[in-house]
Amino acid sequence: MTDYQTCTRCVMDTTAKDIVFDENGVCNYCTTFLKRMEEAQAEIADLHFHRDELISAVKSNGKGKEYDCIVGVSGGVDSSYALYLAVKHGLRPLAVHLDNGWNSELASHNIANMVDHLGVDLYTHVIDWEENRDLQLSFFKANVVDIELLMDNAMLALNYQQAVKYGVRHILFGYNRATEGMSIPPQWNQYKRDVYNIQQIHKRFGNVPIKTHPLFSTVDYMRYKYIYRIKQIAFLNYFPYNKSEALELLQKEFCYKPYPYKHYESVFTRFYQGYILPRKFGYDKRRVHLSNLIISGQLTREEAIKLLECSPYPDPRQEEQDRIFVMKKLGFSEESFSLYMSAPEVPHQIYGSEKWLWDLLSAVARIFR
Ligand SMILES: [Zn+2]
Repeated sequence: MTDYQTCTRCVMDTTAKDIVFDENGVCNYCTTFLKRMEEAQAEIADLHFHRDELISAVKSNGKGKEYDCIVGVSGGVDSSYALYLAVKHGLRPLAVHLDNGWNSELASHNIANMVDHLGVDLYTHVIDWEENRDLQLSFFKANVVDIELLMDNAMLALNYQQAVKYGVRHILFGYNRATEGMSIPPQWNQYKRDVYNIQQIHKRFGNVPIKTHPLFSTVDYMRYKYIYRIKQIAFLNYFPYNKSEALELLQKEFCYKPYPYKHYESVFTRFYQGYILPRKFGYDKRRVHLSNLIISGQLTREEAIKLLECSPYPDPRQEEQDRIFVMKKLGFSEESFSLYMSAPEVPHQIYGSEKWLWDLLSAVARIFR
């Protein structure tokens, strides 16, 4: 086993199993990110230059239709800001939200407030709880790391389904290179279109038949892209983006209430990222988010280290409340939950995966590019 080490430039550490350090103790994660950012500078400048073109294309595609585009909203800063920018630039988006039964009150408040102030229609898909619970429990029993794959995959499915329903070709989402560009260590999550993995895990550990849960496979992606010609647009890349400025604007104009950390808009995500991931798997996702902010000049390393010294749960009472809430909602006893927490991680791939198909298609696409 290698000794524990933290990067001297960012806050990535040896919990990322494939991390390597140079002679100055600088890691490959921030080095690669910086190199990519440099390459991306020109690309981003180009996107800023083509912003009006994109907006006209989205508008002209929406002509005669009820909406111009889909914007997936989670209640987080990035997607809320993307929705705000879309409306500000004269687009008529349909806001799409997936309610998997774990929304925090704060997230529901933020979403309702945003769509209300902006005069945007909101479509909320409430997931079948029995199916979702059974799928989540299967992932617990499988001891795989990426329980959030279920939500992320369903969200993709939902956005594309709504785009087809309204005949729109653009799905705008709140991704941006400045604050999300650093790679998540490959062991920390799973390929997000891996329906085969979801189905195999459920087949082995699940009890409830899955009839309505939205699923989005690699083949679905190809079908929506090449038959329906739907594009996913990382909308924030078309604008200068500074997260704290965006948050300030949202707070001022929409009474937006901030979360203590990224992705804390869902009780499950909060518990997963703040408790299960660091305690069972030994991964603290804040390291990636904070390293991103350091490298993009939005936070100092010292500030990040201070933030990391705090528990992922800023309020210990909330941690215990959440633990009891999650256990009860999923049907764990104290004993079965502590057995889960102490069981070793099992890689997703053990159960089968369709990642190979994506790799193959990407390799083919590279040849023809
Ligand atoms: Zn680093």
